[in-house]
Amino acid sequence: MTPAAAPVADVVIAGAGPAGRALALACAALDLRTLLVDPRPHRPWTHTYGSWTHELPADLPTDVVAARGRGVVVAERTHQLDDEYVVLDTAALQEHLTDPAVAVRRGRAVGAVPAGAGRHPAVLLDDGTASPGRVVVDATGARQSLGRRSVTDGGPRAEQTAFGVVVDREVAARVSEDRLLFMDWRPRHGRPGWPTFLYAVPLDADRVLLEETSLARRPGLPMPELRTRLRARLRAAGLSDAEIPDDDPAAVEKVRFPVDSPRHRSPAGVVAVGAADPLVHPASGFSLATSLRLSPRIAAAIADALRGGADPAATARAARRVIRSPAAVTVHALRRRGLETLLSMPPADVPGFFDRFFTLPPAHRRAYLDARDDVTASVAAMTSLFGRLTPRLRLHLIRGTLLGAQSVRTEQQRYAPGPGS
Ligand SMILES: Cc1cc2nc3c(=O)[nH]c(=O)nc-3n(C[C@H](O)[C@H](O)[C@H](O)COP(=O)(O)OP(=O)(O)OC[C@H]3O[C@@H](n4cnc5c(N)ncnc54)[C@H](O)[C@@H]3O)c2cc1C
Repeated sequence: MTPAAAPVADVVIAGAGPAGRALALACAALDLRTLLVDPRPHRPWTHTYGSWTHELPADLPTDVVAARGRGVVVAERTHQLDDEYVVLDTAALQEHLTDPAVAVRRGRAVGAVPAGAGRHPAVLLDDGTASPGRVVVDATGARQSLGRRSVTDGGPRAEQTAFGVVVDREVAARVSEDRLLFMDWRPRHGRPGWPTFLYAVPLDADRVLLEETSLARRPGLPMPELRTRLRARLRAAGLSDAEIPDDDPAAVEKVRFPVDSPRHRSPAGVVAVGAADPLVHPASGFSLATSLRLSPRIAAAIADALRGGADPAATARAARRVIRSPAAVTVHALRRRGLETLLSMPPADVPGFFDRFFTLPPAHRRAYLDARDDVTASVAAMTSLFGRLTPRLRLHLIRGTLLGAQSVRTEQQRYAPGPGS
């Protein structure tokens, strides 16, 4: 029935990152026999994960939150936001998402065996073996290791890149005035070109991450440029060279991930989650909060399908319908147009655009950042934003979004769950 004589799990998940672990936890809670496959399944996570509180599941344990505060945005004006932003305790998150009921196998997936007549789908490993499941999940992140490749998938990706250093709170306060800076667009680094901002967030009571961030650029702004800008910005704020630990690997964070992942060409019986699924938010590239929120619903759809006797392809489709509902696909298509508008904006206009964005009432702002399957709320937020823009910025938006109506339809078709993928 399967290529290798291995036991068949209910759910086999390739990738033990946040999305894979969150789904594994939710599946195990529903008594599904779940297997996680990862080359280094117990590798301690090191990324600094942040999120608006309203994006996170309400039942996330409080010890998973390392620090919290109301965000501040500095663009043409200073905006004190109503919303609370949290920085997660990455080790506590990893522990929270680790369930002994989930089986773990060390191995690198090199592809997937599609479900076929009388054959379970399976994760193919680089040692030549396979792990079969009644449904298979690709949670390998932006690599999409189980997706079928296509010649049209090439070309540079739009990426978020950032270079950060961790410093003591008193040192950081001389730069951030002890505020949680979600974005500080002031060009204090003195460098020309694509605009970047400072992201300054507490990691705990004593330490702060100061990160020079390029929100999105195709291709991503190079790391050496970000490092140069961060150093120049911190020097301009009065920090000495000795206070900027940018050559200490233990105190440095480097960020690079795509914000416009291509369609996941899923073999039959395979579904993609987390950063492997293309529906990551194109304005931020963030997918963590969505993964945490959606996992119980995806697990429930899988459990219902399996208990109802669905075959693997139908089970994967049931899971995909949770992730890529028609409304979610439409919202994503609109946001993708928003990303293209941003990427084509003259660099000098970008901070002004965000200045206007952060004058939106909280409900509209949240809708844009968070309402992944609420078309009405997303359109209302975009309409409200349009009304706040300068004539020049409106022209950019019209060119990028409204005249791109055909492209919105194309994007919808690209991401809609078809019969196979
Ligand atoms: C430094 C940094 C900071 C970030 N901060 C945020 C943030 O604040 N908020 C946010 O939402 N997002 C953030 N992101 C984006 C972030 O990557 C994702 O949101 C999140 O990690 C996605 O989780 P994931 O589980 O889908 O993928 P990943 O975290 O990429 O995990 C993929 C897992 O798959 C495994 N894997 C890879 N290839 C294979 C293979 N062939 N076979 C088997 N397993 C494989 C990997 O070992 C890994 O364990 C950040 C990214 C970086 C780099």
